Amino acid sequence: MTNRPISTDDAGIPAPSDEHSLSVGPNGPLLMQDHYLIQKMAHFNRERVPERVVHAKGGGAHGVLRITEDVSQFTKAGLFQKGKETPLFLRFSTVAGELGSPDTARDPRGFAIKFYTEEGNYDLVGNNTPIFFIRDPQKFSDFIHSQKRRADTHLRDNNMQWDFWTLSPESAHQVTFLMTDRGIPASWRHMHGFGSHTFLWYNAGGQKFWVKYHFRTEQGIKNYTGEEAAALLVDPDHHIRDLHTAIEAGDHPSWKVNVQIMPFEAAADYRFNPFDLTKVWPHEDYPEITIGRFTLNRNPRNYFAEVEQAGFEPSNLVPGIGASPDKMLQGRLFSYPDTHRYRIGPNYLQLPINQPRAAVNSYNFDGPMAFSNSQDPVYAPNSVNGPAADPALYEGENYQVAGEIIRSAYTKHAEDDDYVQPRALWENVLSETDRAHLVDNIVGHASAPEVTSEMKQRVVEYWNNIHKDLGEGVSNGLGLS
Ligand code: NDP
Repeated sequence: MTNRPISTDDAGIPAPSDEHSLSVGPNGPLLMQDHYLIQKMAHFNRERVPERVVHAKGGGAHGVLRITEDVSQFTKAGLFQKGKETPLFLRFSTVAGELGSPDTARDPRGFAIKFYTEEGNYDLVGNNTPIFFIRDPQKFSDFIHSQKRRADTHLRDNNMQWDFWTLSPESAHQVTFLMTDRGIPASWRHMHGFGSHTFLWYNAGGQKFWVKYHFRTEQGIKNYTGEEAAALLVDPDHHIRDLHTAIEAGDHPSWKVNVQIMPFEAAADYRFNPFDLTKVWPHEDYPEITIGRFTLNRNPRNYFAEVEQAGFEPSNLVPGIGASPDKMLQGRLFSYPDTHRYRIGPNYLQLPINQPRAAVNSYNFDGPMAFSNSQDPVYAPNSVNGPAADPALYEGENYQVAGEIIRSAYTKHAEDDDYVQPRALWENVLSETDRAHLVDNIVGHASAPEVTSEMKQRVVEYWNNIHKDLGEGVSNGLGLS
């Protein structure tokens, strides 16, 4: 006997064999009483949890946030105080592809961060783009359906994608971003991250501000052209491998943490609706301020436990940070924790990757896989000295809203228009090469055999609304007059 440990079943009982099932004689049928075999097969059948309906394919790493500037005049959140270090876990992903789909697809990238703060988990569930395709969660499942698979053939369908986009002009800014070379980052290390939504910050005196987060890569931006990405399809895990290899080699990627801060009162008559997720706040109005940086320095040891079971929820907001009336954020406050309850189970916050480092004194208890045993009392209010809320922690979060209960688009601000910001990107930011690549990428996507000629006309119209040169380039590329 070597000094290897004895293999066991999941109850710790020594395994009778690693090779042979229990049978009636060497050649006879197997027996129900072979618990070791039955546990192995039954557990194997349950090895997968449902994949995420969006952002299924991804990877992640552990790291640390360090705050270098004093922003206490804007927020009292402990993690953002000067000198503070907070451990974090960051998961990168594509949006539309399933588990196993290629990392180098043209798609936005998820950029979800969980900060394990002393005041509980703070999750910032962002993307590598500062904007999104839609501005009302009513359209979210329809949007995702249009990007995934048809009901009949189970095939993805570019015609369906353009149908949704051209009927949803608010998508123009994000689709422009997606079709530039930044639509295929060369690696997760070489792209920016954005909180995308607008959030509320409030300081210890209860003063309020609106904030947007920008995580600027310190590795520099690097992208792949469509051709380069196509050649990499032989390695569908290109980005997982890149991140893992870099961290393993001690090459720890880092991002600057920048914020844009708007005084609370300025939102009402700002030239753009500051809560519209299809818009940025131009830098000339609200410049970025660097407040710190974060570094990824440790690979997961078990992919399933740390990446697949990681549950991020924009509803995890700590004192000093609140929600804004951004309708997409409001929808996500519900849908993220709801998907984790379905996908992982109602006690997903007890798993080590999701477990807060702060003490949990919650009155929720039991349920499948309950691991932290709750203590009496199990109700509040109580007269037996159970945990009690401290509403003072949230002073500053309150603000006035009034209005009719209504189903309506946002009220437009002075310069709100679906094309003005993608036009600024085309006119003021993209180089000649970027513009040529943008046109090529659109033409390539809209040239898929399933895209009808009627749809191609609508595609040209869509880009014409942004800029006539862009519309003309697409029209020429598609061979239309
Ligand atoms: P600025 O010139 O101050 O900023 C331009 C921004 O565009 C920078 O953040 C820059 O990022 C980014 N950028 C550069 N090249 C590309 C590209 N190929 N694809 C996408 N983004 C790129 O201008 P404004 O703030 O007035 O914004 C003008 C337009 O720039 C906006 O309408 C929006 O489309 C885009 N943009 C604006 C952002 C914002 O928060 N204001 C953020 C990102 C994009 P980098 O520094 O890495 O080059």
